[in-house]
Amino acid sequence: MILPKSNRLTADQVAELTKIVGEFGCSLQPIVGAVRTIYAIVGDERHELMINRLEGLEYVERIDRIQSPFKLMDRRSDLATHRIAIGGVTLGDQLLVIAGQCTIDPKNPNYFYETAAAVKEQGAHVIRGGVWKPRTNPYSFQGDTKSLDILMEAHRRTGLPVDAEVMDERQLANALAAGVHMLQVGARNALNYSLLSAIGRAVAERQTVVLLKRSLHMGPLSEFISAAEYVVSFGNPNVILCPRGTAPAPDGYRSHPDECITPLLKEKTWAPVVVDPSHSVGKAAYVPACALAAVAYGADGLCIETHVHPSGGIGDDPKQALTPAVLADTIRQARALWTLRHPPKPAT
Ligand code: PEP
Ligand code: MN
Repeated sequence: MILPKSNRLTADQVAELTKIVGEFGCSLQPIVGAVRTIYAIVGDERHELMINRLEGLEYVERIDRIQSPFKLMDRRSDLATHRIAIGGVTLGDQLLVIAGQCTIDPKNPNYFYETAAAVKEQGAHVIRGGVWKPRTNPYSFQGDTKSLDILMEAHRRTGLPVDAEVMDERQLANALAAGVHMLQVGARNALNYSLLSAIGRAVAERQTVVLLKRSLHMGPLSEFISAAEYVVSFGNPNVILCPRGTAPAPDGYRSHPDECITPLLKEKTWAPVVVDPSHSVGKAAYVPACALAAVAYGADGLCIETHVHPSGGIGDDPKQALTPAVLADTIRQARALWTLRHPPKPAT
């Protein structure tokens, strides 16, 4: 919809608009009001170049788009009935819990095996474990490909699917070859369009699930949804949106908690939302409240860093990981809240 600056356009201006939209296979339909005339673009108005050219005209105030730019992620797309299932849970039917260490320590594989067994026992459906780590400081532990074997051994021991972050195409190929079930795109790479496309291409013919974190610096929600559209456009619709806090953070928290965007995401897209409270607040003491807030806002699942012995962990685990006992309590409360929000349907 074209909204001009003046109440009526001249014949020359209307001719110019008609010519531009015509080049993109669209036509112009004036909507004459008592005071102001506006112009509907009839046809596929998603051509970025057409919109840019119209917005560049000095007599155009603004363009309001009627069609969604997300052909696949939009709530009204044909994919809206798609359901994602992993770890025995169909998202939307039951609260999904992903839990495990921030970082697998290749020198202490037993910690990871114990953590994996413990989170399974407390009700987690997917085990997370960082093999390669995005670290702000180049001298911090960067992860180790050896940890991929530890991750897959934890899968064999527990029978649960596993989740790990990949940051480049080599890691992506290694993770897929090893059989990782869920690929995490981290906050730092959520705007890395070549990685998003590489992941989309690599999982196109597979059932692999992609957990797409929200970037610390993403602005409008459309940026987050567009990043998911990149992956899905190659053919695999198993993409989960994961708010994990943004910058800048209030004093005391690691990030600015953003679980409150869950209802907004759900209004725009059909994709499930799994919130990561661990990186959001960044301290074990605050994680359970953030997890419950996420469920109250309508999240379909939680991704929670957990360690059998947090102070013996590496990466984020010493400050951020819950113990299995606190995880168990958080899951119990989160499930109770989930049930309040999703009361069982009365038998008919
Ligand atoms: C992580 O999951 O350990 C991690 C690094 O997450 P994020 O990309 O959200 O910072
Ligand atoms: Mn972490």
